[in-house]
Amino acid sequence: MNGAWPAPRLVTGLGRGLTRRCPRCGQVGIFRRWVSMAEQCPRCGLRFERADGYWTGAIAINLLVTEAVFVVLLAAAIIVTWPDVPWTLVLVALIAVNILLPILFHPISRTLWVAAERHFHGWAEPDGSGESPRSPAPD
Ligand SMILES: [Zn+2]
Repeated sequence: MNGAWPAPRLVTGLGRGLTRRCPRCGQVGIFRRWVSMAEQCPRCGLRFERADGYWTGAIAINLLVTEAVFVVLLAAAIIVTWPDVPWTLVLVALIAVNILLPILFHPISRTLWVAAERHFHGWAEPDGSGESPRSPAPD
């Protein structure tokens, strides 16, 4: 059931990724549990993991988002409570953020990565199937 799906615009794919949907067709339910992703989309057939090590990009996105949130929350805590910053409370809260946020953001980082990576490298599968109409035709 793949091959006929048009390549989405980057913004559309990222928007679908932010809501844990298939970046190509928008199908919901591609996660069996919070962190367990299907191998391919049941609607358009997009295979999510293209090769070994593919999810390194998702890990990088997850790390960047977690540390950005960490820095913003740390700065906000310092600014709001200055000069009597409750360092122990800030430390405990930010440790909790650094443990929980990567787990909560894990599926979103994966679908965001698929959307971004596929946008720049094409939507065709490594075996050539699933070529999108907007993708360049092979010679
Ligand atoms: Zn799909």
